[in-house]
Amino acid sequence: MANPAGELDDISGVPFWGPDFGQLVAEDPEIAGIVLSELDRARGGLQLIASENFTSPAVLAALGSTLSNKYAEGYPGKRYYGGCSEVDRAENIGIARAKELFGAEHANLQPHSGASANLAAYAAFVKPGETVLAMSLPHGGHLTHGSKVNFSGRWFDIVSYGVREDNELIDYDEVRSLALEHRPRLIICGATAYPRLIDFEAFRSIADESGAILMVDAAHFIGLVAGKAIPSPVPYADVVTFTTHKVLRGPRGGMILTTAEHAAAIDKAVFPMMQGGPLMHAVAAKAVALKEAMSPDYQAYAAQVIRNAQALSAALASQGMRPVSGGTDTHLALIDLRGVDVTGAEAEARCDAARITLNKNAIPYDPQPPAVGSGIRVGTPSVTTQGMGEAEMAVVGALIGRAVTDPASAPAVASEVTELVERFPAYDRGSVTV
Ligand SMILES: *Cc1c(COP(=O)(O)O)cnc(C)c1O
Repeated sequence: MANPAGELDDISGVPFWGPDFGQLVAEDPEIAGIVLSELDRARGGLQLIASENFTSPAVLAALGSTLSNKYAEGYPGKRYYGGCSEVDRAENIGIARAKELFGAEHANLQPHSGASANLAAYAAFVKPGETVLAMSLPHGGHLTHGSKVNFSGRWFDIVSYGVREDNELIDYDEVRSLALEHRPRLIICGATAYPRLIDFEAFRSIADESGAILMVDAAHFIGLVAGKAIPSPVPYADVVTFTTHKVLRGPRGGMILTTAEHAAAIDKAVFPMMQGGPLMHAVAAKAVALKEAMSPDYQAYAAQVIRNAQALSAALASQGMRPVSGGTDTHLALIDLRGVDVTGAEAEARCDAARITLNKNAIPYDPQPPAVGSGIRVGTPSVTTQGMGEAEMAVVGALIGRAVTDPASAPAVASEVTELVERFPAYDRGSVTV
């Protein structure tokens, strides 16, 4: 039954019910057409959304597999359904890879998304009404870190810290004094729009001083940790939550790492507290992505992602577009556009017209409302997967500059974008076939 590795040497005669795009075309041309035009859209422009990436064909193959059909509530060896012998093996391999790659004592691969992983971490450590200290959304935090429109802000007593106005860096003295004053049960660090490294050791000592659990939401940067390009939060945190689809380049989903001490609490919080059956096709695809992230190629990729973000940030700075905090140590830069007198919303629309996809973003102490914003956020995970380097980032920076400051240049910029992405295709034509 099971396929020992040797049997996979020649799979030409093996009956496999895998993704067959032709069947989708025949059965539902409407949706098939959308899938193809989305691929065209992604390939036909520059994708600079900092939280996106191009996952590998191997990951997509696992995602498109019949593992999607299997009900496997519970954990390997302790399921509530029969027939789980094969999916158990996939989940065990994924858990072992996550523990090895991140040096963690325990890993849970089942959260459906980053928000679900965070919901489970809250459930494991805090009761409704208890105090949580986290980064404020307008300064780069995430919705799940206490926004009023999210469960976190509705169910918990949230105290927020931000960045200093003078240097736009996390103010660790403020974090410490808020922690000592409010005695939160949980302290969260990690952000969606903070370009700098976070001092996990400082957060650990603040958590120890104030008697709090330390959660690191590493959704954005865990791929850089996996690639050994930035320091790891794992030695300092009680729990590390993250998404698997950002720099890490896996399937859309979430994951949680924790210490042996908190392992049972986290597992119970994911299932049965927050979720029912795990998405076993996604769990298998996470295992594939973790294997890819263990390779020397991936380490080179992670380092290049940062060099590219630094090159892009410098190219934008040279045109009067100021990088918040003066630059970046990670895969993203937050750019203040007040110097060129363009709002974030205008810049996003103008870039879109030139086939450059990025997002408007609030900057710290932003005078504009969030729907407008004074800045944009740019990230390099996708363009680096396409093989672009620092030389291309200088070109991309110049193209963004023209698109942002001169709306009439959109057609000319778009045609230069087309030339560039044709030299660095996302998914070369052979890897996705119809
Ligand atoms: C992206 C992100 C999340 C949420 O991930 P989803 O998969 O979109 O739910 C949570 N926290 C941070 C810091 C993020 O950047």
